[in-house]
Amino acid sequence: MTHEEPDPMPEDLLDWLEDEDSLTDVVDEEQIEDAVANAYLDAEDEYVPIDDGIGYLAVSGAEAGSIVSALPSGSTVTEATAAPAIVSRDKSLTGDRPVYLVHRGGRQADFLPWVMGELHHKKGRSITIGAVANLPSARGEKLGSFFRQASVAALRIADPQCYRLDEKVLRLPPSPIGKRAWGYAPYLSTTEDADWVLQVLEAQRGVGANLLLTPGRALDPDTPQKSLDAAFQEADEALALAERGERLALNLTLPSRWLSSEALRNRLLDQVLDQDQFDVLYIRVQWAQAKAFAPTEDADLLMGIKRLSNLCADEGRSLLLPQTGITGWFALAHGATGYGLGVSGSEQSFAEYAFRRGRKGQQQAQRYFEKQMLHTVDSSAHDVVRSSRGYIDCSCAYCPQLFENQTWSHALAALHHLYCMGELTAKVHEDSTRGGRHGAVRRIVATARRWSSELPLGTSEVPRHLAAWDQAL
Ligand SMILES: [Zn+2]
Repeated sequence: MTHEEPDPMPEDLLDWLEDEDSLTDVVDEEQIEDAVANAYLDAEDEYVPIDDGIGYLAVSGAEAGSIVSALPSGSTVTEATAAPAIVSRDKSLTGDRPVYLVHRGGRQADFLPWVMGELHHKKGRSITIGAVANLPSARGEKLGSFFRQASVAALRIADPQCYRLDEKVLRLPPSPIGKRAWGYAPYLSTTEDADWVLQVLEAQRGVGANLLLTPGRALDPDTPQKSLDAAFQEADEALALAERGERLALNLTLPSRWLSSEALRNRLLDQVLDQDQFDVLYIRVQWAQAKAFAPTEDADLLMGIKRLSNLCADEGRSLLLPQTGITGWFALAHGATGYGLGVSGSEQSFAEYAFRRGRKGQQQAQRYFEKQMLHTVDSSAHDVVRSSRGYIDCSCAYCPQLFENQTWSHALAALHHLYCMGELTAKVHEDSTRGGRHGAVRRIVATARRWSSELPLGTSEVPRHLAAWDQAL
């Protein structure tokens, strides 16, 4: 049975780097296949007013997700409720709402502002949205226009991904910087330059980022103090280069041992505690993953994520956990400010690269996120889950079209996933009266675990992480 095999994730290998030259064919295919999703972009531009009459949010059409100060002529205002105003960058980092980062990957990038706008409209009073674009993945103009359209995002982060240079520390695929990536991110080849850190900052400024990142080279667990010192030295240099009104986050890239081993973890946390010049942390953790879209169930790693989040909350630091998917959502319980996810499996976690036999010519897996299970399953397993007692049909804007059509729309399934995770993030805020965010996450996880335990699922579809999470809460 195909379900029992380890998932070869062919598409995730392809877009591990989000390198657009390797993706061209795939994207073209999706354009044709996702005529259903594309129809949404062709729809008429509709707007809703923003609170206090300070502008309008486009909720449909090609400009969906963008905010305009005046209504374009001939456009319509829908009867729907108004959207909240966008909070400032600084308020989003210290405010009481969780930050939900949407990563722009190589897949379905054109659709992202649309779901971000939808989420802001419906859930923007409970979450703050951020946008992350990777500098080595596309031309600057393209990333800049993504930021412009996704104007509901209070945070705009242009990730320099300098960790791609650290093949010896991380488990990266062969040639982790593709041909085009060198061109898109020229600073990747000039690390010896005296003004290298400035080049990294300039690249982020150039596309319109409003939260700058330090280079974020990977920390080697085999030479812990040396690599911590080097990372903080670069970060201090970046801090000295930050201009008036700019905000800089300490960007760290860690193999999971830094969090799962107690000795390394303590060393890291001590260093973070000491260096209080950095009040925003952007930390990416690489861990091994057995199956695409499966969150981590490693108890030691979960403990590390918990400790790191606790420390940041206690010390008033804002902790952002990019590229963590639903594992990042779990960290909200322990004090993380926000987390990020995108469309592909590679954006649900920064997984260690492992060579897998490709399945050329095989279809891309049809995946569906089950909100009640806090898990992504194969679309065939969805049919089983759906007919189970107590199942609640998803009420997002994308599911009716997704299930009405004969051809599976990967774009609509992805938008459904991003929307549902945004809803779950909002729920953590909305349900925090009893026991704070911790209480809210614990209740959602406990309910999901209870409900899922009775489902007739194949072994590869069981949400195994829930038991480990329940323990860690
Ligand atoms: Zn849905």
